[in-house]
This record gives sequence, C-alpha cells and structure tokens, in this order.
Amino acid sequence: MVKAPDGLMPTYPATLIVLKKTKLGESDLIITGFTDEGYQVRAVAKGARKPSSRIGAQLELYTVAKTLLQKGRSLDIVREATVLISNAGCRSDVEHSAAAAVIVELLDKVTRDSDQEERLFALGKEALRCVGAVELEGLRLITAGALLKIVAQLGFRPVLDVCVVCAAPLDGGQGGAREVEGVQGEMNTQGAAPPAPIAFSHAQGGALCSRCASLEPEGSLVLMAPALLNWLRTLMGSRFVALETHAHAGTEGVATEILLFSKNWLRAHLLVYLKSLDFLVNLR
Ligand SMILES: [Zn+2]
Repeated sequence: MVKAPDGLMPTYPATLIVLKKTKLGESDLIITGFTDEGYQVRAVAKGARKPSSRIGAQLELYTVAKTLLQKGRSLDIVREATVLISNAGCRSDVEHSAAAAVIVELLDKVTRDSDQEERLFALGKEALRCVGAVELEGLRLITAGALLKIVAQLGFRPVLDVCVVCAAPLDGGQGGAREVEGVQGEMNTQGAAPPAPIAFSHAQGGALCSRCASLEPEGSLVLMAPALLNWLRTLMGSRFVALETHAHAGTEGVATEILLFSKNWLRAHLLVYLKSLDFLVNLR
C-alpha cells in the first residue's frame, strides 16, 4: 500500500484474473477480480464502457491484468491496468466463452475478499490458458478437469480408491443404487463383460464397498462405471499440460458425464450452483 498525500486515498498494486464485469451508471464498470494473493476484489473502472477507454480494453473477461487500485469508501477504483495474459482464445467463440465462464463463475463463488487462496490463482490462471488454447472438441474435458482440480484444491476431493465409509477395497457392489452414471465410459475393455459399476454417494463423499452401500438409504446412491472413476482420478491427478493431451473428440461423452457429476458434487459439498455449467452442458 502506497501512502498518499493528505486527502487522497492510498493506492496498491494487484495482479488479477477478471472474473466478472458489471455495468455501473452510464459508462462505468465494476470489475470483480481474483488476485494472485488469493483474495477477491471489486473495483470501479471509470469510463470503461466508452469505446475509447484504455482501461476498459485492458480488463476483458478472463484476462490476467496488472492493476493499480485506489482505496475507496465502498468500492476501490482502478487507476491503471495492463494486460499480462490476454487469454483471447477464451473469447474466440461461444463454446470457448461458455467453458471459460464456468471457471470464472466458480472462482467468483468460492473466493472471498479476505480469504487467502493463493494456489487457486495459479490453478485458475492455468485453467483459462488451457481453455483458450484447446480445440473445440477438447473443451469439455479441460473444463471438467478444471472444476475437479479447483474443488480438490478447496479440500473437497471425492474418495475414489477405497470405500469412503470403512476404507475397504471397492468390490463393485451396488447396494440400493438405482440411477446409473457413467456406463458409457470409454475406457471399457472391448469384448469382455464390462466391469461391475461402483456405488457412489455424493452425501458420504465418495465410492462405497458393497456392504456399506447396502446400508445407505434407498435412492441416495448412484452407480458409476469404473472407467468414469478412472477419469475422475486422472483429471484430479494430472497437470493441465497432461490433460491437454487427453482432450480430443473421443472424450466429449465422458467429459459431459463428469461435468454433470461435478454439478451434483458442487451442490452437495460447496452449496454452489453454476448457471454457466448448465449453459455449457446444454450447448450442443
Ligand atoms: Zn465400506
């Protein structure tokens, strides 16, 4: 924070991802940003909606920008802004915008003005770079991976390797599960009988052995193909550069299943509903 002469509010630098832009008055914008120090900031960019505005041009959605902000009574004010990473690919068509919107909406909803979530900044920045760079057919897998990695970073990683209740090995028992998720997982070995699906409880936070599954209330479980569980592990356990090699046309079906899984997981554990996620899933 730079000490200002009497009568002027102090200024401070902030490197941020532009998460949201809200219209204010005739020509101003309120910029919601997530900073590299791990907190959320809202600041007024005066005149930013005028076509000639230099500051407005530097603060496009999904951009990483270096800014100088001035403390204000209610909202801070953007004094300077310079693009560091444009992420122009995130704004290149409706599909890329829809995918990037999911990431920024989640960051907007899970970050606060005081919480320190520094590692989320690096994750969000890399997720947007990846969305901007990937071909259309890989978009859903990258978005699904980004959602799961952010959720895991926040401490809400589903338990997938052993029974979430008793830690026994997963034995493919179905308990009282009815609804089936992920039976089309593309990792099924061809020709052989498909491996038995695994019971999964959003409320319990993971996969269940057959004994524990049988004790869960009716209707509280979903069945997941082992291939889908494998994808969840892969997406959470891989760096984005590795995910980019997986993101191709053959993954769109399984990626959509994972996006729908993520929707239920976010609702159960973070009490978050993402409007942009429904939009992306229903896009095609
Ligand atoms: Zn168990």
